[in-house]
Amino acid sequence: MRSWIAGADGSGFGPEHLPYGVVTHEGGHRELAVRIGDRALSLARLHDLGLLDGVVRHARSVFDTGSLNCLLSRGPAEWAAARRRIQEIVTDAALADMAREALLPLADVVLHLPWDVADYVDFYSSEQHATNVGRIFRPDGEALTPNWKHLPIGYHGRAGTVVVSGTDVVRPNGQRKSPHEELPTFGPSRRLDVEVEVGFVVGTPSPQGTAVAASELTDHVFGVVLVNDWSARDIQAWEYVPLGPFLAKSFATSVSAWVTPLAALADARVPAVAQDPVPLPYLADDDPWALDLRLSLELSRGAVSAVVARPPFAQMYWTPGQQLAHLTVNGASLRTGDLFASGTVSGPEADQRGSFLELSWGGREPVAVEGMGEVTFLEDGDVVTIRGEAAGPDGTTIRLGDVVGRILPAR
Ligand code: CA
Repeated sequence: MRSWIAGADGSGFGPEHLPYGVVTHEGGHRELAVRIGDRALSLARLHDLGLLDGVVRHARSVFDTGSLNCLLSRGPAEWAAARRRIQEIVTDAALADMAREALLPLADVVLHLPWDVADYVDFYSSEQHATNVGRIFRPDGEALTPNWKHLPIGYHGRAGTVVVSGTDVVRPNGQRKSPHEELPTFGPSRRLDVEVEVGFVVGTPSPQGTAVAASELTDHVFGVVLVNDWSARDIQAWEYVPLGPFLAKSFATSVSAWVTPLAALADARVPAVAQDPVPLPYLADDDPWALDLRLSLELSRGAVSAVVARPPFAQMYWTPGQQLAHLTVNGASLRTGDLFASGTVSGPEADQRGSFLELSWGGREPVAVEGMGEVTFLEDGDVVTIRGEAAGPDGTTIRLGDVVGRILPAR
């Protein structure tokens, strides 16, 4: 598959990828778009040109809108139809003269949060991450809690503070208490951290009272984004017992500006890791796959930028299908726009840890970064970038939308 759009092939955003986003051009209204190379191809403009007529029901309400939600709600058959047609448009040279009018250079557009986030669930599905955190927070206890291998642990996050990549993050204030302090104090977090995660965007809803099976994942999940689950470790350590994370997480969660359709990641599927003990039957996944996404965590401080970790997503213990089955098994409904994230991705090697909590082992073993000195947690002005790539069809590479955020001082 080759595109007539210059620079698209081989860019990680070729015709085999086509992630969806929402852009504004020169202060105009929000337009649905797909990314191709270093351009945004406006679906609103393609629709105006008549190139998307009849592709889905009521095509105007799907394509001439400022949010992905209408498309998300339509389900797999219409997702596939839209994708097929857009692939035709970017690969058929006979359509180039017309479609060129809908191409906008990325440098000339502003990227927005591409969908309205409904509910947000964050899991904890990396065995290595959970083990590391257990050892750091509970050095005298078992690293994994007794429930960890029986269910994908998760919590409900705050959907309203999910922000698009590029949004600045203000350092949160809160109650902090370190182990050697007797009483908590109030002030800016001194242990601001990141969590490298992968998020799944739900399209098709499900009725309340009905569970969704792991095998139904592709009926409901539209696509994938990278996630940075910003975390204030000092606030978290004091507040999390017994109900889990609250204000340590809810101030901001950053996601990619481009949603990669699950359909673009077929070649990135690999067998999931073996599970022992075998989980309860409702968590059975007949076709347990993981996604081999190669992730990286980059820190920029002053003039220096360095990749400090490369977490391996293929090694996650719980599959996305099992996460979906678990989060609905009690009858909780899915809503169009729900986001569920994997939990921090960490591998067994020191440079595969997806948080500074783990990289600096609770702040006790600062990481030496060339040109930057010793790093523990985030400083004001730091910029964090999470990237991801995967195998596409026919030897191509798919680059997920980056997640970038800069830390601003507390207010
Ligand atoms: Ca998390």
